[in-house]
Amino acid sequence: MVQFLESLRKTTKQQTLEPSSLSLGDEAISVVFRRHVNARRLILRLEPCGSGLLVTVPRGVSRARALDFVERSRSWICSQLDKRGRLTHLEPGQCLKLRGIDHEIRHIQSRRGLVTTDPVRRLIHVPGDLPHLRRRLLTFLKAEARADITAACSKYATLMDVGFRRITLRDQKSRWGSCSASGELSFSWRLILTPEYVLDYVAAHEVAHLRHLNHGARFWRLLLTQCPHATKARDWLRLNGQQVHLVVA
Ligand SMILES: [Zn+2]
Repeated sequence: MVQFLESLRKTTKQQTLEPSSLSLGDEAISVVFRRHVNARRLILRLEPCGSGLLVTVPRGVSRARALDFVERSRSWICSQLDKRGRLTHLEPGQCLKLRGIDHEIRHIQSRRGLVTTDPVRRLIHVPGDLPHLRRRLLTFLKAEARADITAACSKYATLMDVGFRRITLRDQKSRWGSCSASGELSFSWRLILTPEYVLDYVAAHEVAHLRHLNHGARFWRLLLTQCPHATKARDWLRLNGQQVHLVVA
């Protein structure tokens, strides 16, 4: 038994390949290796919503060879990054789409108090010390998301004559919202970065699931009756949804 465990540990260790990073101009991307026993060749994939590069490594191929493959694929990686768009960091001077509208992030060193917005000049003022800017801005965005989502869900719950238990905010890459059979709703906080009608549609969609926990004809009839901009919002998410994930939280 001890011997078996020892050999298992050894195998596990061999399977783990230390991550690396690749610097491309002013952007450094993380490189994660994943050993795959069924893979026949080295495969590169730019994570759709993140800044990382995923390398599938077949059995018997060393980390050094995988890393060499990454180096030789620089031009392909650059073209993929160009296609994907630039990352937005929560830093002064960066542009953030608040409710789908460009806002510049401004740091106010001397001021204490809350994060505020100037909708006319399209600015987000973040007071306090610079090292706390990212955290404070993120807290603000999530609070704004919660307020807008709660208001939209309450509106649709009244219209559709249903009740919901509570709202949870998440940061899932694969879904904008979800609804459980027990009446709990969850949403991506990143909806605050989409136009207002998109957030409104996602709220309507999840609240409609409280009536029909499927995507059947009756579900769509209810949703389209109460939320006429549903199709337009779905198109927006299909075309632009990925962009929202370029904000590095
Ligand atoms: Zn659904």
